[in-house]
Amino acid sequence: MSQLYDVVVVGAGPAGYVAAIRCAQLGLNTACVDQWTDNNGKPSLGGTCLNVGCIPSKALLDSSAQYHRVQHQLQSHGIHIEGATMDIAAMLARKEKIVSALTKGIEGLFKHNKVTFIHGHGRLVAKDQIKITNQQNEDTVQTANVVLATGSAPIELAVAPFDDKHIVDSTGALNFKQPPKRLGVVGAGVIGLELGSVWSRLGSKVVILEALPTLLPTVDQQIAKDAARQFKQQGLDIRLGTNVTGAKSTADSVTVSYADNDGEHKLKVDRLVVAVGRRPYTENLLEPGVGVDLDERGFIRVDEQCRTSVPGVYAVGDVVRGPMLAHKGSEEGIAVAELIAGQSAHVNYDVIPWVIYTHPEIAWVGRAEQDLQKAEIPYSAGVFPFAATGRALAVDDTAGRVKILAHKHTDEILGVHIIGSQASELIAEVVIAMEFTASAEDIARTVHAHPTLSEAVHEAALAVHKRAIHRAN
Ligand code: FAD
Ligand code: NAD
Repeated sequence: MSQLYDVVVVGAGPAGYVAAIRCAQLGLNTACVDQWTDNNGKPSLGGTCLNVGCIPSKALLDSSAQYHRVQHQLQSHGIHIEGATMDIAAMLARKEKIVSALTKGIEGLFKHNKVTFIHGHGRLVAKDQIKITNQQNEDTVQTANVVLATGSAPIELAVAPFDDKHIVDSTGALNFKQPPKRLGVVGAGVIGLELGSVWSRLGSKVVILEALPTLLPTVDQQIAKDAARQFKQQGLDIRLGTNVTGAKSTADSVTVSYADNDGEHKLKVDRLVVAVGRRPYTENLLEPGVGVDLDERGFIRVDEQCRTSVPGVYAVGDVVRGPMLAHKGSEEGIAVAELIAGQSAHVNYDVIPWVIYTHPEIAWVGRAEQDLQKAEIPYSAGVFPFAATGRALAVDDTAGRVKILAHKHTDEILGVHIIGSQASELIAEVVIAMEFTASAEDIARTVHAHPTLSEAVHEAALAVHKRAIHRAN
């Protein structure tokens, strides 16, 4: 047994590294253990998010959007570019550079905050002991508190197992050396839509097979229908209500078998991405009998404040219930650090924004119209299209709308749903508004700069009371 810490965090993704930094800021002697290695066998902090998730996917979304813009959207500005080409190797190198800058940035933050980083696999062997194994040695550290932040991993389908060549997970889909001529995707969720968009913009013919009969069922259905229309126009072929029954790889292609209401089908593609969700990752994490309970789906069971069934052991991020989002995990990490330091802490799970980084972007917070109807909560809806704002016309990006749902009697904002350019940025205003229990009237009375896309948020708030200015109510 070597070192004694106040806190050991297992996992350095956005939940774990943020927890570790906040613990150290609060004066706690903190270590963070992480097992991630990059392609050169070197430790790489930041977990799924920085290495193979949020950041690299957004880098590719941006590169592919720029290419698409040059090819299809600049003509209306009078700009004609002949013979634009896409250098995929350069695009992938740019992505890797961004990842490397950010992962090294976490190393720097650890040093600055005096968080001890230990590369290796952590295992909770007792409530106050973590056994750490790496290629060089094995050590057990003693700690007063533990934060488990081991994240999640892609779900594998038995009928289409990953072979890391033709049938890949999201990580494989971030690294195609060329756009596959025909790309199949199983799952029209966040990853399927984002990475399907990337390769479609770069020239792949993309077919997405989705098991459910409805696209994005948890998204406000008016917005989801808008999205479906946009994706169709962009050439994404989304087939709903399909049941994938098999996938057979040959030397250069995959034949996917699936069934829908019309019967059995075969789809031949060059690559198949399986993106049917992620599962909590707890491999070899818990010594039998250590007392940390898992729920029926394998998530570490925690209370409202991320306490596990063992006193002094907390768990945060994708490995516990709630949305699998980086910012949700980070907020839990901060809350747990503050609890350990004796402060009070709270995460407002009702006001967590979601963003899908397709084009147009889809962003929302709070409840969807169909949920309010189901719960029989009286509401008023205000909707405003971007096409009626000067800024959207000026930037030639008019698709989409803002929709605000407010309580019919109190006017409190219950949900906001945006599909459109910059929805990811626009949602922040309404997240703050909801955090402060604002009413639609509050946003309606707030001055918004002109000309901006945020005027659509302002007008949607006005529209809740049928007094939008730039549109018939
Ligand atoms: P992770 O980021 O998974 O980190 C867990 C870390 O723990 C890893 O480094 C792992 O190696 C390490 N670990 C696991 N077990 C052990 C052990 N026993 N010992 C030592 N180390 C261990 N979310 C968003 O909010 N926005 C996005 O735009 C977004 N885009 C995404 C795109 C893709 C392609 C994917 C796959 C995910 C995306 N996500 C996005 C989800 C986001 O990445 C996760 O919600 C987030 O990374 C979860 O953070 P975490 O810290 O809980 O776990
Ligand atoms: P998801 O849950 O978003 O979508 C999975 C989709 O696959 C669902 O629509 C589901 O109905 C479908 N599906 C499940 N089994 C199927 C089957 N056998 N055949 C066909 N379809 C099937 O999961 P994901 O896209 O894998 O992403 C995992 C998680 O990562 C997301 O839920 C999200 O939490 C996170 N993520 C977030 C972002 C973001 O915030 N922008 C981006 C990427 C990933």
